[in-house]
Amino acid sequence: MIIKDAKFIISAVKPHQYPEGDLPEIALAGRSNVGKSSLINRLLGRRNLARTSGTPGKTQQLNYYLINEDLYFVDLPGYGFARVPKDVKAQWGKMIGGYLDNRENLKLSLQLIDIRHAPSKEDVEMYQYFAHYNRPHAIIATKADKIARGQYQKHLKVIRETLQVLPNTPMIITSADSGLGRQEVWNLIAKYTGF
Ligand code: GDP
Repeated sequence: MIIKDAKFIISAVKPHQYPEGDLPEIALAGRSNVGKSSLINRLLGRRNLARTSGTPGKTQQLNYYLINEDLYFVDLPGYGFARVPKDVKAQWGKMIGGYLDNRENLKLSLQLIDIRHAPSKEDVEMYQYFAHYNRPHAIIATKADKIARGQYQKHLKVIRETLQVLPNTPMIITSADSGLGRQEVWNLIAKYTGF
């Protein structure tokens, strides 16, 4: 996809703030620091559109980015902050669950996992959400440039086994630094949105 335009639209806290209309939405989820902002910037060919740096206070916002007036990226709040109080975590679950369950515009969810590390408890819970809601989703392994190419499959296996990835869930290896996997992610998005 040729990115002619990409812009931040809104940090939505409540469903009534989600954009009107029926443009397709691609959701991106991952624990803070997994490289979500960097990947969004890389996919869109922009340096600083998505802010890099997870801020614990931003746990309850869905950040909407409009691409070419064709589709939205929806940056789901990062999870896995050690110091987030229980009630905030509960709020997070309610918000994400509500979005995944009800949002018809949502065509595909991408769950980002750092390729270097075994998925955390929160990663497993997030994956279970996607599997439970039975909406199209894929695993995006990030920061591949940080390990040797010969190690990719071994690390993917750990991710697959820890998350108990369903056989039909695509897994894509990416690097925001080198651009690895960018086209593959766009191909997947195209499959679900036509763009
Ligand atoms: P977010 O909290 O998930 O949005 O994560 P960021 O995009 O802010 O990235 C967290 C840190 O990881 C930053 O220091 C990034 O520069 C670094 N990072 C993100 N993606 C990559 C990558 O593909 N390769 C490398 N080497 N570093 C990355």
